[in-house]
Parts: sequence; C-alpha cells; structure tokens
Amino acid sequence: MKLARLAAVAGSIVLATALAACGSSEKTVDQNAGAATPAAGSLVGVTMPTKSSERWIHDGDNIKSALEKLGYSVDLQYAENDIPTQVNQIENQISKGAKLLVVASIDGTALTTQLQEAADNKIPVISYDRLIRNSPNVDYYATFDNFTVGVDQANSLLTGLGLKNADGTDGTATGQFNIELFAGSPDDNNATFFFNGAMSVLKPYIDKGTLVVKSGQTDFTTVAILRWDPATAQRRMEDLLTSTYSGAKVQGVLSPYDGLSIGILSALKSNGYGTAGQPYPIVTGQDAEVASVKSIIAGEQYSTVYKDTRQLADVTVKMADAVLKGAKPEVNNTTDYDNGNKVVPSFLLQPVVVDKNNYQKVLVDSGYYTADQLR
Ligand code: BGC
Repeated sequence: MKLARLAAVAGSIVLATALAACGSSEKTVDQNAGAATPAAGSLVGVTMPTKSSERWIHDGDNIKSALEKLGYSVDLQYAENDIPTQVNQIENQISKGAKLLVVASIDGTALTTQLQEAADNKIPVISYDRLIRNSPNVDYYATFDNFTVGVDQANSLLTGLGLKNADGTDGTATGQFNIELFAGSPDDNNATFFFNGAMSVLKPYIDKGTLVVKSGQTDFTTVAILRWDPATAQRRMEDLLTSTYSGAKVQGVLSPYDGLSIGILSALKSNGYGTAGQPYPIVTGQDAEVASVKSIIAGEQYSTVYKDTRQLADVTVKMADAVLKGAKPEVNNTTDYDNGNKVVPSFLLQPVVVDKNNYQKVLVDSGYYTADQLR
C-alpha cells in the first residue's frame, strides 16, 4: 500500500489521460465536458474554512486573484469553522449560478447533500487541501502529500532530539526521551494522514523504548484536537503536565499545526519551561505561519512544515480552468485518496520542513515572506 503510494508519487506527473481507468470521475467530467464552454466571467464559488488561521487567508486570496486574472468572477467565502455556515455558503453559490466549486471543507463528511445538488446542476467540484468524504460528486482533489507531512514532522522531532541527523542518518543521542502526541481535527481527512505518517516514523522508536509517550495516550481519537483549536490543545497540554509530568520533563511534542504548537508552548511556559535551566521540548508544527516562524527564530518552536499555498492555488486554478473548458486537468496520484465512495484523482505537492537553519532560504529568499514580516 505504502509502496504503491510512493510509486505513484515517484511517477511524478501523470497526465490525466491515465485516468481513463478511473470510471466514476470520467463520468462526472464527461458530463461537464459535454456542456457548452462557460462564458467569460463565469462564476466560481470558493469556500474556505476559517480566517482564524492565516494560511486559509493566503489560499483564498491566491485562488481568487488567479481566477480573476483568467477572466472568471469569484465568490470567496469563509465560515469561521461553522459547518452550517459553510453548507449555506455552498447552497448560495449553487443558486447564484456558480459553474464550478472549490471547497476546503470544515467537516469533510458534512457536504453530501450540497454536492449532490451541485452534480444535479452539472457543477463540478474540486476538493481543496482537505478531501471531501462520502460523496461520489468530488471530481478532483488538489493538496500536499499529507502522509509525507506527518513523516516530515516526525523526522524533524527526531532531529531535534538528536536521534537523527538532518541528512536522515542516525544521530548520537540514544534516549530515552519523553514525548507527547497531538493530532488534528478528527473530521478533517488530512489529520489521519498526518498522524499515520508521523507514527510510521515514531512507532519503531516507541516500540524500542527510545521514545516514551509517558501519558500512554497514543491513539488518534485520544490525541485529536477538534477543529484544530489552539485553546483545546493548550488545555490538553496543561492537563498532561499536571497528570503526568510532576517530577518529570517532557522532551518532545508532536504537533501537527502551528496554531496548536502556540497553544502547547504557552501551556509549557506557564509550567516553567522556556528557561535556560528548563528549555522547551522539541515542538513541531505545520503551515509556516508568521507567529510560529518568529517563535522558531526565537528558539521556542523547533520546526514547522511549509506548504507553499501559492503552488496549491496555482494547481487548483489550472484544474478549475481545464475542467471549465471541458478538458482534463493534470493529476499525479490516482491511488491514495479514497473518499469512502471513490478514489478521487489528485494532484499532490511536496511539503518542506523549515527550522532555524533554513527559514531564510525557504521562506524569505523564495519571496513567501519578507524579512520584515518575520522581525
Ligand atoms: C491543513 C493544514 C492545516 C490544518 C489546520 C489541514 O487540513 O492541511 O495545513 O494546518 O488543516 O488548519
């Protein structure tokens, strides 16, 4: 299974003609391909989960401006992580005559009815970053390689602890190290991919006793943080410190998202960590959000996983434009993302681990942030 996944990724860009074998998506696309090419200025509905995390603001802005450059008009909506609000936004976009929907879902299982309505109106749907589940009416999926994100987070945790070197070889440290695990929102399909990716790296170290999850909390359901809420992560870290770490220290925390890392670090700070005598544990993250990159520069958070939202918007807009013109978009994975109803043809981008050593090169030299934004 994993080999198949790697092979698919290593096979890099497979033109969508390879999708000929992929029955249900073909059918959906063909329906749309049969429709007249939409007039210039056609409406595209874009729904994003929340503005409370800056990555989604970048995503929305990037998609909107790229679609507008191609002559489309765009209805961009944010739902502040409220599922009924997102449901209404999608229904409104359908009734306003949207010709295509780009959806970054809040709860990946909550949109079946709306997507059926979209299909009834021959409106194709692109699942953005997060896979929409339990619906046949998802035509394409644009995302990062989510399993690799988790692998990267775990490897970075090992590097921070000295168990591995940056080049992947064994480090000089031997352990044992106390660690705790956090996962993302259980209703976000990505959260399981991140966690499984991370555990594929960490489990052998846990089994050997090199890493000890001192709380004993290792299963996804127990460590998942609903809606990726930083305050919930902060509370869970505080509870762990109280229940498990009186007289002991935590040396590493697997955190799947920068917002959670900030909550976790603040729980640690209020429990005496972050001093010369009691440094912060190695804390990972995701999204390279400004506050977390600053925290990395300040020596607090150890690392983050950077996903260039400009690339994701670019891939998505190319997909949307192709579908709207009745053509087949480019995909590079037709095996990994089964949404419970069908395997959704996907385009996966590659994430990059960022820490104190490479943030300048990866984030500033690439123009993602200016040096000033990180001061
Ligand atoms: C995204 C991550 C993000 C998380 C919380 C996930 O679906 O893939 O980039 O950190 O949601 O917003």
